[in-house]
Amino acid sequence: MENFEQWSDEQVLSTAVRYGEEARKWKNKFLGLLPEVEHRKLYLQKGFSSVVHFAQVVGGVSEEQVSRVLNVSRKFATMPVLQGLLTSGEVSVNKLARVASVATAENELFLADQVQMLPKSAVEVLVKEMQSVPGHKPEQIQTMTQEAIYVDGDVAEQLKSLQGKGMDVSQILREALTKREQEIQEWKKQIGESCQETDSRYVPKEVRDILQKEHGTKCSMPGCTRPSEEIHHTQRFSLSKRHDPRYMAPFCKPHHQIAHSIDLRVQEKKGERRDP
Ligand SMILES: [Zn+2]
Ligand SMILES: [Zn+2]
Repeated sequence: MENFEQWSDEQVLSTAVRYGEEARKWKNKFLGLLPEVEHRKLYLQKGFSSVVHFAQVVGGVSEEQVSRVLNVSRKFATMPVLQGLLTSGEVSVNKLARVASVATAENELFLADQVQMLPKSAVEVLVKEMQSVPGHKPEQIQTMTQEAIYVDGDVAEQLKSLQGKGMDVSQILREALTKREQEIQEWKKQIGESCQETDSRYVPKEVRDILQKEHGTKCSMPGCTRPSEEIHHTQRFSLSKRHDPRYMAPFCKPHHQIAHSIDLRVQEKKGERRDP
C-alpha cells in the first residue's frame, strides 16, 4: 500500500500525470479492440447482449464512444494506416473521428502524419479546409471570404469627386496599391540583405513591423481570418539563423502547427533528420 502522505508535491503531481497518460492510452487501446470484439461477436461469450453493453461494463466507456469507434473503424475499412492508429490506441478515437470525414485511400498517409503531430484544435482547422476542397486534396487547401470595403468619409468624398471629374478611381487606387506593394518588397529586401546571423529566436521589431505592413494583424494563410499569433520561418531558423522577412510569415496558431507538421513530413521524405 502506498503512503501518499509522505510523497512530495512534485512526486504526487508527476505520478498523477503519468497515470493519467497511461489511463488514456489504455482506454484508446480498449476502444481500438472493440470493432474486433463486435466483428467476432465475442461479447456473447461473456454473457452480454451487445458490444455496447460489454464495453460499458468491462471498460467503463459510454455508448457514444462505442458507436463512434465502430463508425470510424468502418470508415477506415480501406485505409490500413489510419485503421492501425485506431486499433493500436496511439491516437484518440475523437481525433481520428475528426479526420474520418475527409479520409480517402489516397490521403490517408498524409492524414496519419497530421493526427500524430497536431493537437486536436489544429486537426479541426485542417479538416475544415480540406472539406472545402473537392477531392480533399491537401495541396489545394484554400478558402475564400468576401467582405465589404470601408473607407473614411473624407476618402470617399475625394474618390467621388475624382470620379465626378471623369477619372478612373479604380486605376488610381490600383497604382497606389502597386506602389505600396513595391515599397514593402523593396523594404523587405533591404532588411533581409543586411540581417546578420544570430542564435536568438527573438524577431527584431523592424522585421515584425514590415510583416505587419504586408499582412496586417491577421494570419497570412489565404482566407484565414484568425489573428496572427506566431511568426513562421519558411526557411528553418535552425539552419538559416536569420530573421529575413522575405522568408517569414505571420500565422495563427493552428496554421503555424500545420505548416510545421507539413514541413516535417517533407523533410522526412527527403531523408533529413527532424530538427525543430
Ligand atoms: Zn514556424
Ligand atoms: Zn490561420
